[in-house]
Amino acid sequence: MSFDFDLFVIGAGSGGVRAARFAAGFGARVAVAESRYLGGTCVNVGCVPKKLLVYGAHFNDDFEQASGFGWTVEQPKFDWATLIANKNREIHRLNDIYRQLLANSGATLFEGHARLCDAHTVEISGQRFRAANILLATGGWPQVPDIPGKELVITSNEAFFLKALPRRVLVVGGGYIAVEFASIFHGLGAQTTLLYRRELFLRGFDRSVREHLREELLKKGLDLQFNADITRLDKQADGSLAATLKDGRVLEADCVLYAIGRHPMTDDLGLKNTAVELDQHGFIKVDDEYRTTEPSIWAIGDVIGHVQLTPVALAEGMAVARRLFRPEEYRPLDYKLIPTTVFSLPNIGTVGLTEEEALGAGHKIKVFNSRFRPMKLSLTASQEKTLMKLVVDADTDKVLGCHMVGPDAGEILQGIAVALKAGATKAIFDDTIGIHPTAAEEFVTMRTPVNE
Ligand code: FAD
Ligand code: NDP
Repeated sequence: MSFDFDLFVIGAGSGGVRAARFAAGFGARVAVAESRYLGGTCVNVGCVPKKLLVYGAHFNDDFEQASGFGWTVEQPKFDWATLIANKNREIHRLNDIYRQLLANSGATLFEGHARLCDAHTVEISGQRFRAANILLATGGWPQVPDIPGKELVITSNEAFFLKALPRRVLVVGGGYIAVEFASIFHGLGAQTTLLYRRELFLRGFDRSVREHLREELLKKGLDLQFNADITRLDKQADGSLAATLKDGRVLEADCVLYAIGRHPMTDDLGLKNTAVELDQHGFIKVDDEYRTTEPSIWAIGDVIGHVQLTPVALAEGMAVARRLFRPEEYRPLDYKLIPTTVFSLPNIGTVGLTEEEALGAGHKIKVFNSRFRPMKLSLTASQEKTLMKLVVDADTDKVLGCHMVGPDAGEILQGIAVALKAGATKAIFDDTIGIHPTAAEEFVTMRTPVNE
């Protein structure tokens, strides 16, 4: 059977581009199809623009704190249109870099919606191509609730392109995106309310981390409403929105952002023309090597729903490229100890087991934690506190989990994740000399467990 390509990748996002470039680098004939934007979610409506907006929002604190260091800052003024225009310019620059990276790797890029015709055939813009292997890396898409007035809500996709900063924002959800966007809108000056349906947001994160972030956000003046959910939305005569909550209260806002999870993007992908199966949540089913139930078709990234993070999609992309074209270098991905950050203000950084997970898994544990006002704030009126926490196996002394809420938590936790991957014990943390004066040194100076 003759093929046009050895690998046809559908989706030029984090995972797809990485797989395509690696496969082409291994000498395979590779095609990539992209229907929307090069670089996918992360580059266009995810990690990158989000982080730029978080940086923008953080200036609010910086201006406030500057006076303690002797600076006089005239009344700072923020212009949303400038931030968004500059962000857009940067994203276009990155789109071009992605185009260049693909071209330099030797992969052929097709811009348009790709559809499977059978186990080896992809149709795009009326043309059909045959490929020995097809990789589905089509990512995800925000979910919206099925409530009256759902057409009035926006998701993170639209939030990045709003014409103006809304005066009053309701953010619905209690996961990464809701917490991050609540921090962004609040930091940039919008009156912001976060509504979450259960008693405390960020379910799955360490309880102390969740409680600490709640306190810090409240100190900053964010309106947090837990056990709250919207049952209907109505547009009012003045154009504003009225959100009726399940307890009957009505909140007014100029923008309602839903961040209640993302569903896998398999729209019009032609899966029915193949033996590819979905799981009960609509994610593409794969085996340990990312092969779907159709032997010539593979899938990675958000569309398989293992861990919806860019570095995971990248690693899965590399794994498939190696599995297909450098099998001698293939090794399965280790999903344990994946570090992650919620870029709220302040940030959460975390790796390994939460206290609750460690106990649930039957570990006897020692918990160390430190809560302090960072040195940078000592000359300011800010009462923000940083939290650092270690969860240690009492029998083996192994550090099972490490959690932080505070400035640069993501930057600090990346290094700690290496230590945990290497199997570091608490004794090794204790033996490590600190870097003084930093916040990070607290991780190597906590001596007394708080749970004994
Ligand atoms: P994607 O990057 O979504 O790429 C899929 C691509 O496939 C898209 O470009 C899409 O247009 C294309 N496509 C879909 N169907 C077709 C088709 N039929 N034909 C052609 N092309 C198609 N992760 C982090 O690690 N850190 C963060 O800080 C972070 N922040 C985020 C913030 C937000 C607001 C969001 C929404 C996500 C964030 N993520 C973050 C998650 C991260 O963006 C995703 O995990 C990652 O992008 C997944 O990569 P992927 O390759 O699976 O899919
Ligand atoms: P998450 O899965 O993180 O959170 C979804 C939230 O919405 C949960 O709090 C959930 O509540 C709530 N929810 C779900 N359904 C409903 C509903 N019908 N009504 C009200 N609330 C509901 O999803 P996100 O959309 O925040 O983000 C998607 C994924 O993208 C993340 O899981 C993460 O993997 C990735 N991401 C990573 C980032 C990073 O690395 N910094 C940043 C942004 C996204 P409950 O707890 O009750 O289930």
